[in-house]
Order: sequence, then structure tokens, then C-alpha cells
Amino acid sequence: MRTTDDRYRGEKARFELALRMIRHEARTGTIRYVTSLSDDRIRKLYTSYFKFDANKNVKRRRGKTPTQITPLIRTPARTLESGVLVNLLVASALVDVAAPPGPALSGNIELGIRFCRCFEVYQTVVPKPTLTFEWAWNLLMTVRRGDEIGIERCGSCGTVYLRDLLTLPKAACPACPTLRPGAATATLRSGPLPA
Ligand SMILES: [Zn+2]
Repeated sequence: MRTTDDRYRGEKARFELALRMIRHEARTGTIRYVTSLSDDRIRKLYTSYFKFDANKNVKRRRGKTPTQITPLIRTPARTLESGVLVNLLVASALVDVAAPPGPALSGNIELGIRFCRCFEVYQTVVPKPTLTFEWAWNLLMTVRRGDEIGIERCGSCGTVYLRDLLTLPKAACPACPTLRPGAATATLRSGPLPA
């Protein structure tokens, strides 16, 4: 019976993760990638649990995950915000800074749960968070690739932040300029992210 029980628990965790991701309005492709459930199963889960319940107010997202990186580091405010999420991802071992990309994510329920937890913590610690689940996923994928965005630690204030690796000279720490008078306006111009 042990094998049957383990399999049941594994399936239960898989479905619970898919529901958690649907609740965060993750796209079907992302849910499929992490849970290995078919598009048909994901659609049925969405229909059974969310579609006809107006109180839950969950939208089903189709199409691809955003892949641009510029909006993630467009302003000092957004760079700091993305940095909060990246710190959580690093602490949860979803990214290996020394040896990217880190552990395999495809079909990995445990890591999928950890990513949801990071996103939920990010939403509670950042005032007025602007990154959606899919933008957070894009950030994870970009940092894991390690070819466009790198992680830096500021020598003077110790803040860990993201940096565009393709831009020279290296961008300054986003936290330090805001301490100087007159620089604060830059933090107000992040603007909304595309869907
Ligand atoms: Zn700094």
C-alpha cells in the first residue's frame, strides 16, 4: 500500500500546485512546465474550481510568458523590486549564482511550490508590488540563463540588485542614488508592466 499512498500524495501535491498557480493567474504553459499536467487537465481544473465563481475573480491566461528583460530593471524602483524577488529566489535555491542555471525545474513539484512561496512573500513584503506571477517567472528564467541579467551586491550599502550584463559602464546601485536629494523622482516613474 505504501507505493499507492506515495503516488496518491504525489498526485495530490501536483493538483494543489496547479490550483495555486491558477490562483496566481499563471499561464497554462508555465503550469504545464512545472506540474507536467496536460493542457486539458489544467483547463478542467480551472473550469471546476474558478470559472463560475465570481468571488474568486481569477483570469485564465493564455499565450506565452513575457521574455523582455528591460521592464524588470527600467527604473531604480523596479530594479529594487525585482531585486527583492531575486533575493528570495536565491535563498530558496531556485537559482545558483555561482553555477547557473540551478536545479532542473521541469516537472519539479517541490521547486514549483518554492517558487509560489517566493512570489507570495514578495507580494507581502513589497508595498504595491507590480510584478505579476508571469513576470516573476520571466525573471527567474532570465537570471537562471545568466546571459542578460546578473546579480550584484553594492559595495557601500550592501543591497543586492540586478544588472543588465550587456550595458557598459555598469549601472550604479539603485538604492544609493535615492539617498541623494533631488534623485527621488526617478523612483516614481516605473509605470505599469505589459500583460
Ligand atoms: Zn548601494
